Amino acid sequence: MEFQGRVAFVTGGGRGIGAATCERLATGGAAVGVADLDPGPAEEVAARIRAAGGQALSLTCDVTRREDVERAVGRVVEEFGRLDILVACAGVTRDNLIHKMTDDDWDSVMATHLKGTFLAVQAAQKHMVQQKYGKIVLVSSTSALGNRGQANYSAAKAGLQGMARTLAIELGRFNINVNVVAPGFIETRMTRAVAERLGVDYEQMKAAVSASIPLGRVGRPEDVAGVIAFFSSDDASFITGQTLYISGGPAA
Ligand code: NAP
Repeated sequence: MEFQGRVAFVTGGGRGIGAATCERLATGGAAVGVADLDPGPAEEVAARIRAAGGQALSLTCDVTRREDVERAVGRVVEEFGRLDILVACAGVTRDNLIHKMTDDDWDSVMATHLKGTFLAVQAAQKHMVQQKYGKIVLVSSTSALGNRGQANYSAAKAGLQGMARTLAIELGRFNINVNVVAPGFIETRMTRAVAERLGVDYEQMKAAVSASIPLGRVGRPEDVAGVIAFFSSDDASFITGQTLYISGGPAA
């Protein structure tokens, strides 16, 4: 129960990696604010946590909107009394080769990943600075190192790594750690949508990707949630500004 007495706020908490993270932190004893664009999946995750004996609150929150983010963070603090852990997990892809990428493809990816993370961090750090305690985990991707069709997404995910290093420098004096997880191929709705868009069978796609991964399989949301939990814990107290790739092999 390493998170007993701790309070977490997870954006994009309704599905995939975010949902697994909410459940992992709750299993460790944290009270969790499960924030998502869509209230249905967020409430399902919160209800599962409560049914297992934990504490959770679902929140409807579009991370691109300052008023949503400030309201959601405020509600979590009102309900649970503090805020110790922020996981900025909300994400979208709008893949296109550069000559076909639209302004909307670019803007929506930047708004969700970069502005959304900025807004969540800004709202959360106020409480963490006062407490002189905080753990912030951002979610990047192996795509930060380059991936065909993802000029927008890879720019945003690389940007998050720079943001984390700067936040680590600014917030370290307040005992706030800021780290980044950078997953490879994880089995979620996001990668399933890529297969659908390419007209490829998802099982075949996973098999092909697995063949290129030293551990011989694609990742599961729990593989990422476990590392997020580590960065959110006091075992990681002297680590900040770091990015850890979670890709089943030494190369991203
Ligand atoms: P997912 O299953 O599609 O989950 C993404 C979640 O983010 C969804 O619940 C979605 O809500 C939410 N979201 C999207 N836009 C939002 C917004 N404006 N405000 C609030 N919530 C929003 O995808 P995932 O694979 O778990 O992705 C989670 C994170 O991991 C993302 O940042 C993604 O870029 C990153 N990542 C994923 C992989 C992978 O292979 N899956 C690899 C590297 C990094 P709705 O469902 O309501 O739209």
